[in-house]
Amino acid sequence: MSDAPNAEPLQQPPPPEEAAAMSARTIREGVPLPAFLRANARRGMVLEVDSVSKNFGGIRAVDDCSFDVRPGLITGLIGPNGAGKTTVFNLITKFLPPTSGTISFNGIDITRERPAQTARRGVIRSFQISAVFPHLTVLENVRIGLQRRLGTSFRFWKSETSLNVLNDRAMELLTAVDLASFAAAITVELPYGRKRALEIATTLAMNPELMLLDEPTQGMGHEDVGRIVELIRKVAANRTVLMVEHNLSVVANLSDTITVMQRGSILAEGPYTEVSKNPQVLEAYVGTADE
Ligand code: ATP
Repeated sequence: MSDAPNAEPLQQPPPPEEAAAMSARTIREGVPLPAFLRANARRGMVLEVDSVSKNFGGIRAVDDCSFDVRPGLITGLIGPNGAGKTTVFNLITKFLPPTSGTISFNGIDITRERPAQTARRGVIRSFQISAVFPHLTVLENVRIGLQRRLGTSFRFWKSETSLNVLNDRAMELLTAVDLASFAAAITVELPYGRKRALEIATTLAMNPELMLLDEPTQGMGHEDVGRIVELIRKVAANRTVLMVEHNLSVVANLSDTITVMQRGSILAEGPYTEVSKNPQVLEAYVGTADE
């Protein structure tokens, strides 16, 4: 955003597969950051969560939590049920005000912003399925996302040229998520996995700089999980992603780095291979399994 201090323009990444492999290798093997990520890293952290707490009455759902999200990477936010992940997402997207602490996006303090202000900066959470209009077509749903970003008014619809431009861009996004052949389908009739892909397309329509994915593979069969994983890898190649996900093989497969929460606090951070061997992390998960 133009009001970021000393903002350098985001560098264009190489093709998606190359970019994803480069960023993952950087984290796993400690090789130097590729040029496009180095340039983006000079901009600092995309997101900084600093000593944030959230109380609900007597419950401390988030307890003095601090973590950063680095540009160009997929960060997995994991933890047992009730660890505070959803609350953290709600705090970042401003659906909840924190009890204390600071949240910064591209170096700007956004702690007290309204949800729409933060969304306009490019912090976009994947919409819940219920937020997709079930009786509109797949194409119309993406077009609404595009229109929302453009902030276009009703009058905009009167111009056929404008509508065609929107349709072209919507079709591009549907192609990106492998839904082009479903463009004319009524959304309610889509299979579940395809609905989640549509949710990603409507999120992309908002052109997020930081994309927050909320359990993207929840409730999916094996085949759909594989498709969504590939899709996320593709769309994440030129943006930053923070993802809450319970399926640990998805987390291992996709994340460049992991942040683990337990009882509202950060328990561990680092590459999956390292974090998954951390005795405290193992105990947190095994402890939950035994309950
Ligand atoms: P899950 O993986 O099960 O979705 P989570 O890690 O997302 O869990 P949260 O949903 O953030 O965890 O919940 C953290 C804690 O805060 C839990 O103890 C939960 O019961 C509590 N909590 C969350 N939202 C509220 C609320 N609106 N009012 C009261 N307590 C809440």
